[in-house]
Amino acid sequence: LDEAALMVATEPAKTQCGKHIEVVCNVGNVADVENAGQFGAEGVGLLRSEFLFMQRTQAPTEDEQFEAYSKVAAAFGKNQNIIIRTLDVGGDKPLAYLPIAKEENPFLGMRGIRVSLANQVMFRVQLRAILRASGLANIHIMFPMVTTLDDLLQAKALLEEERVALGVKPIPIGIMVEVPSVAMLAEQFAEHVDFFSVGTNDLTQYTLAIDRGHPELAKSADPLNPAVLAMIGRAVEGAHKHNTWVGVCGGIASDPLAVPVLLGLGVDELSGSLSSVPRIKAAVRDQNIAECEALAQKILRVGSAAQVRELLLAHKQH
Ligand code: PEP
Ligand code: MG
Repeated sequence: LDEAALMVATEPAKTQCGKHIEVVCNVGNVADVENAGQFGAEGVGLLRSEFLFMQRTQAPTEDEQFEAYSKVAAAFGKNQNIIIRTLDVGGDKPLAYLPIAKEENPFLGMRGIRVSLANQVMFRVQLRAILRASGLANIHIMFPMVTTLDDLLQAKALLEEERVALGVKPIPIGIMVEVPSVAMLAEQFAEHVDFFSVGTNDLTQYTLAIDRGHPELAKSADPLNPAVLAMIGRAVEGAHKHNTWVGVCGGIASDPLAVPVLLGLGVDELSGSLSSVPRIKAAVRDQNIAECEALAQKILRVGSAAQVRELLLAHKQH
C-alpha cells in the first residue's frame, strides 16, 4: 500500500449516503495487532484464541490468557470493540492435550463450543481470563460453532456464573453464525445475544455440504453462492428484529467485490484480514445503501455464484 492509501485508511468508512460501517480486523496472534492502527482497523472483529492453545503440551493458564487478551486490547482505543472468540478447536484443529475420540465426520462432531461444553474446567479458565480483561477495554465475547439454543444457553449460564463470582460488569455476548440452523432461527437466537458474526468459511461449508479443505471440491465452496448469501440475509433480518447487530468475519469480508452485497443485506460490521482493511474501507466509501439493497435483491434471485460475480462486477463498473 502506498502512503496515500494508508493515510485514508485511518478515516472512518462512510457510504455515499452517510452510513458508517465499522471495519475491523481478524487477529490470529498478538503480533498481528502491531500495525492495526496504521491499517485503519477500528477494533478486532474476531480474535481467534486458538493460537494460545496450539503447539503446547497443556492448556494456557488464566494469567497467560489474561495477559495475551490485555496485550491485544492495548493496541486499540478504549471504545473500540475487541471480540474474543472462545476456543474453536476440533475437526481441522486438534490439540495434543485434549484428545477427541476418532470421529467418522470430524466437521460434524466435536468442534467449537461443543468442545468447551464438554471440557468445562478448561472453558471456565478462558471465561475468567476474558472477563478479567474486560475491565481494561471494550471486550466482547463470542462463542463459535453454536448450532442449538441449548448450546448458547449453557455457555451463557457458565459465563454468568464466572462473572458473578468475579464481581465484574456484564459484557456484550455474541455468537458466530456458521451453520444453517442459526441463520434459519436467527430471530430466536438474537433474543439472547448482543451481536452475530457470520463465519462464511464454515457457513459455506455447511450450507453447500462441501468440506472447506477438500482438495478437489473446495473451489466450489464459494461464499458468493446465492444460497450462502440468502443465509446471511436471513440472519440479518432476524437479528435486527431484536436490535442485535451483525458482522461478517469469514473470508468474504476481506473481498472488496463482496462489500456491496453484504451492505445490501444489511450487515453492520466487516472484519477482514488486516491487509484488506484499507481496500474494504475504500469499497464501502463507493457505495450507496439503497443501490446495494436493490443489488442484493437481484442477487438473491439468481442461481449460481458465477452469476452473482457477474452482477457484482457490473455494479463495480457502473
Ligand atoms: C469462519 O468459519 O468463517 C470463521 C471466521 O471461523 P474459522 O475460519 O476460524 O473457522
Ligand atoms: Mg469457523
